[in-house]
Amino acid sequence: MLNVLRSIVQEVNAAPDLNSALTLIVERVHQSMDTEVCSIYLLDPESHQYILMASKGLNPDAIGKVRLGHSEGLVGLVGVREEPLNLHNAPAHPRYRYFPETGEERYKSFLGVPIIHHRKVLGVLVVQQRASRLFDEGEEAFLVTISAQLAAVIAHSEATGIISGMDFTGQAAKDICFKGVAGAPGVAVGECVVFFPHADLNAVPDKKIQDIDEEITQFEAAVNAVREDIRGVGDRLASQLRPEEQALFDVYLGMLDDTALSGEVRTQIRKGQWAQGALRDVVQEYVRHFEGISDPYLKERSVDIKDLGQRVLAHLQQNQVNEKQDYPDNTILISEELTPSMLGEVPREKLKALVSVLGSGNSHVAILARAMGLPCVMGVVDMPINKLDGRRIVADGYNGEIYSHLSPELLGFYSSIVAEEEQIARGLEELRELPCVTKDGRHIALWVNTGLMTDVMRSLNQGAEGVGLYRTEVPFMINDRFPSEIEQRDCYREQLEAFSPSLVTMRTLDIGGDKALTYFPINEENPFLGWRGIRVTLDHPEIFLVQVRAMLKASEGLDNLRIMLPMISNISEVEESLHLIYRVYHEVREEGIDVKMPPVGVMIEVPSAIFQVREICERVDFISVGSNDLTQYMLAVDRNNPRVASLYHSFHPAVLQALYKIACDAHSVGKQVGICGEMAGDPGGAIILTAMGYDTLSMNAVNLPRVKSVLRSVSVDWAEDLLRKLLCMDSPEVVRSTLEFSLKEIGYEQYTRPQRKN
Ligand code: PEP
Ligand code: MG
Repeated sequence: MLNVLRSIVQEVNAAPDLNSALTLIVERVHQSMDTEVCSIYLLDPESHQYILMASKGLNPDAIGKVRLGHSEGLVGLVGVREEPLNLHNAPAHPRYRYFPETGEERYKSFLGVPIIHHRKVLGVLVVQQRASRLFDEGEEAFLVTISAQLAAVIAHSEATGIISGMDFTGQAAKDICFKGVAGAPGVAVGECVVFFPHADLNAVPDKKIQDIDEEITQFEAAVNAVREDIRGVGDRLASQLRPEEQALFDVYLGMLDDTALSGEVRTQIRKGQWAQGALRDVVQEYVRHFEGISDPYLKERSVDIKDLGQRVLAHLQQNQVNEKQDYPDNTILISEELTPSMLGEVPREKLKALVSVLGSGNSHVAILARAMGLPCVMGVVDMPINKLDGRRIVADGYNGEIYSHLSPELLGFYSSIVAEEEQIARGLEELRELPCVTKDGRHIALWVNTGLMTDVMRSLNQGAEGVGLYRTEVPFMINDRFPSEIEQRDCYREQLEAFSPSLVTMRTLDIGGDKALTYFPINEENPFLGWRGIRVTLDHPEIFLVQVRAMLKASEGLDNLRIMLPMISNISEVEESLHLIYRVYHEVREEGIDVKMPPVGVMIEVPSAIFQVREICERVDFISVGSNDLTQYMLAVDRNNPRVASLYHSFHPAVLQALYKIACDAHSVGKQVGICGEMAGDPGGAIILTAMGYDTLSMNAVNLPRVKSVLRSVSVDWAEDLLRKLLCMDSPEVVRSTLEFSLKEIGYEQYTRPQRKN
């Protein structure tokens, strides 16, 4: 059964469009279950009707014509109940609805299972038989399994179809929405540029071209280069192969001939598709064809075709690397998995938003987007990425949504938000020189999180009072080896000098989780629960010692350094780290360098540390809450996984209780407490944290003026009243909406998520 399942899923996955996918499903299920009828009904979200989209066994003329209301008939019943329905005498069921055009009156037994993707019913898969009998347990289990596995494929094919302009009912597509996760606030209207990994034929996006002759010339050059490569390999092996084995190289070369692959690719290019996209389509078609053949020799040829395709692609891409890419002025960068290094490819003034198929709102690339002030949408898993290049879309970073095929109304709505945001930003500039003092006179220190050099400039412009978190892994990530002590020292010195005399909190290397170093790969089943942060650096004191030495030397004459330890989960990690830091301090002084012992602090980001705040505070000078990780570990929600992103709540009542306890415990032993997670930069979060008594809030520079503006317009009494109410609530959604309501009341509606009125 597993093999049958696997081969059906594989075939359907390779289908070129929705209709072929659905036809394949009904044919294969019909065949493997040996039923008389197999049909698929899809739910049209516009009309809320089920439409018979494919059938093996029912009258083919009924396909596309039979429609049922969303709770009508047995199909509607399966959809509403969201579970299988197995009947031995379907016509006798009170909900049975008869459609003469299908000819289904002959079939007595009925088994329907819902097709559900991300909690949404997409349709119903039905098998029917003449004989009156219940389908057995095995048959039911098979249909449920196949439906669960194919739901994502169907959703993806639907999305791919709709992006070319029509939904599956044949209606013109309008305001198509792809749901993702909010990554960084803001809205952009712009043109997609798809970044795709090189050397992967399946990842190549569609692209329209103007100069067809030039594209054909480039393709021919790539094919000739591959021919040369293959001939070269053949010549080198000539002495070791028999003539009949040698002949295989000719077969291989023959596949590239005009009558085969090359001719077809050229035809596609003439239709306006770029060479890489044309190559992808033709190779995929050949592969599908060969894989469908049962003869093992011919089946194997699919491997050769794939290999040839990859080789031609490599040459095409090699040529492209030498040409400089021209980016549109309003680029929205899209990728399967955005990485920090991709952000540097597009000139900053042209980059308007970021979109990633993978990842979630607290992935590090989303944090980087917030630091750069770029709207960002993460985890848009059903978006047909290879059909988007060059399209105009809206990226809504507040609600985590992407829109294409924009109607004038939707475009107008989002254009007005973009204009409003520009106006708010101009208004906030006036706040730069003003202190962050609440209406009743409490000063709240607003610090910044940095990592990039652009952060430094922006932070100074926004009037930051210090650096609460300098993510030292950023300089490590953009290198191709560990930076040397001198390189690190110079880099840290730049930070310390830029902010002097304000304090700069440098965090020791926090790699692992979703922060990988290409030159120090960590492959683990559970990276966020694995070798991360202080665990790595204590196991590699040579990395830790060099880094601390570089920090201390960089602070010479400035003395504005603070050192902070990430991912602490027990006291002995604190003590071991302190021991190493003292050792370096004495060594540096012995070298004759006159530095002061910097304050050392600990990040509270692992739940165990919440309950040892006092013990930790006895040993260090300050603590700072890493609410991003603290939330993920407390709620057991991977901050990087879009599937569970809706469960990641910074305002979860348990998280609020923890944050409050941490602040109270630190103060009870006379230690300062700060926070450097994303929550500090959320205007609502900043109000709560102020009420809890946090001494410093460290955030990205883009959010700082917004937070300052909000905190200057509230009193601590008012914030404490609000906190008391929030601490009694038991649902994160209610906490969030109460906070948003309070922001509206004090005139800050613009900092809540924009809602479109339909
Ligand atoms: C945090 O976890 O809240 C934090 C500030 O660190 P990072 O986001 O870099 O893991
Ligand atoms: Mg962290």
